[in-house]
Amino acid sequence: MKIIRDPLELKRYLKDKKNSIGFVPTMGALHEGHIALIKKAREENEKVVVSIFVNPTQFSKGEDFSKYPKKDEADKKICAMSGVDVLFFPDAKAIYHDDEVSLLAPKVRGFVLEGLTRPSHFNGVLTVVMKLLNIVNPTKAYFGKKDAQQLNLISLMVKQMFMSVEIVAIDTVRESDGLALSSRNIYLSRTQRLEALKISSSLHLATKLIRKNILDVGEIKKQIRETLEPLEIFYVEILNRDFEMIKKVEVQNSVVLIEVKVGSTRLLDNIWI
Ligand code: AMP
Repeated sequence: MKIIRDPLELKRYLKDKKNSIGFVPTMGALHEGHIALIKKAREENEKVVVSIFVNPTQFSKGEDFSKYPKKDEADKKICAMSGVDVLFFPDAKAIYHDDEVSLLAPKVRGFVLEGLTRPSHFNGVLTVVMKLLNIVNPTKAYFGKKDAQQLNLISLMVKQMFMSVEIVAIDTVRESDGLALSSRNIYLSRTQRLEALKISSSLHLATKLIRKNILDVGEIKKQIRETLEPLEIFYVEILNRDFEMIKKVEVQNSVVLIEVKVGSTRLLDNIWI
């Protein structure tokens, strides 16, 4: 596995490759969720590139940027063992400039849900993903459904900016008790981890209600909120897969999204119905 830190060196390295390239952008502290993306990329492409970059511009003041988990050596081993060809490990100075061209998230879809309480978050996400996609120029790029709004906005950017990469969505990987894997789970104490299980159980409840043909969005959201108590809720929302408001669940075209705070950790999860 080759490790490259300089964006232009990576561009040069990949330029003459005639092979298909699968790209998995991450912020490191890799877990089975990331590995599922890498595996799929490995299956579908001749070359696999993974990036590890904790992107400063997607964190707001007071968020966990400076203490975001770092496991560089373990991450390198995981990538090597998962058959990654190139690990791209840039530092912020190589990615950002003093006087930057800016890319803004769409005014509606970028400023609801996560974007409501973190208004600059998706500007940062889209900017870094655009830069990374331009550096790697992959055939396909792999993103987790766990970050459903991010996935939706990246797909929108690729479409609206006429980019040629194919975006591949990968199902959320969970612990055996239902908790969605996240690099931030390491912030949770034992008790907080137990409290966090309310997130997946409330999504499970939503699925059960929908199976019983209870499709009223207001009613399902009410029952989810009750199950999540006493956690601090940022949002409980049910939208169609274009992230538009709906009154009744559209089976095969809806997503139930939750973000809560457990201790001081924001956790998000969702289920595609
Ligand atoms: P992150 O390192 O948290 O920025 O995540 C990098 C990529 O991995 C994103 O596309 C995430 O959606 C995806 N991802 C994170 N957690 C999971 C999970 N539990 N299952 C599947 N994909 C995930």
